[in-house]
Amino acid sequence: MPVADYKTYCKMLDRAQERKFAYPSFNVTSLVTANAVLKGLSESKSDGIIQMSTGGAAFASGSSVKDKALGAISIAEHVHRAAERYNIYVALHTDHCQADVLDSYVIPLIEETEKRRAAGMPNLFNSHMFDGSALPLKENLDIAVPLLERCHKNDLILEIEAGVVGGEEEGAAGAGEAHEKLYTTPEDMIEVARRLNTVNGARYLLAATFGNVHGVYKPGNVKLKPSILKDGQDAVVKAFDREAFFYLVFHGGSGSALEEIREAIDYGVVKMNVDTDTQYAFTRAIADHMLKNYDAVIKVDGEVGNKKKYDPRSYLAAAEASMAERVKLAVSDLRGTGTTLFEA
Ligand SMILES: [Zn+2]
Repeated sequence: MPVADYKTYCKMLDRAQERKFAYPSFNVTSLVTANAVLKGLSESKSDGIIQMSTGGAAFASGSSVKDKALGAISIAEHVHRAAERYNIYVALHTDHCQADVLDSYVIPLIEETEKRRAAGMPNLFNSHMFDGSALPLKENLDIAVPLLERCHKNDLILEIEAGVVGGEEEGAAGAGEAHEKLYTTPEDMIEVARRLNTVNGARYLLAATFGNVHGVYKPGNVKLKPSILKDGQDAVVKAFDREAFFYLVFHGGSGSALEEIREAIDYGVVKMNVDTDTQYAFTRAIADHMLKNYDAVIKVDGEVGNKKKYDPRSYLAAAEASMAERVKLAVSDLRGTGTTLFEA
């Protein structure tokens, strides 16, 4: 099926919230990793989201070019074509974009969508993230409101972040933040709703933070407080109405306990970003190939090696398969297996 259109994407998110599951949103940096996600989603009979970070997209454009908008467009165009061959829906999203890179990432991507729409073509992306979490909340929302208006005009969903996710990720604020900032307060969430709900009919996603950290941690080392999300949702519904209930995004979930992930879903998380776990699954298969075939991939002592083993396809195919398996696990962790909206 082609990439989800706006109506389908909205339906996906509504259904996840109703049925208490979430869509994994996988970071990809290449055709191989994008294909791994499509394979894993389709084998799970689940819809899902493919996203690109600024660094991942710059990488995809080639090391001589390093143009993040170009790299994101290239991968998105591939996904539009390849997704036609799968019996699931996939949405395309861009990950963390801080205020200082809006003009070189999200804005040119919105312009690309505007250009396509003017020519009667479908949108290239379904949603974009603006990460203003490093700014004071007022400045964050002062940028987010007009951006949401522009997104809404183009059938794009905007993801924003309030509060700071700890840890390591390109473009994401990180280590050294005051501990309290790891938790979004109910007051922050009310303020987000107050400002963003002025954009009539617009859809947005909120990455609220509840102790999550980017990067990989040993299970048990991440101290999540999903009740933060419940407190915020309750406060927002009380201050406004049930319509204000957020569509939440879970960043930095690697190393979280399954019960905590599922508790977060129960409080309205509909999208969970997955990067570290699939990175590892991809590389693990390559490590296995290289260590088992050392003499074949390295020309030891003037030997010739084994072309079948150093052809990049041999280990990249293994990496694709290994990543696809991890994709399936993420889908099942998020209670998504078998939930596709696609009807053949
Ligand atoms: Zn993140």
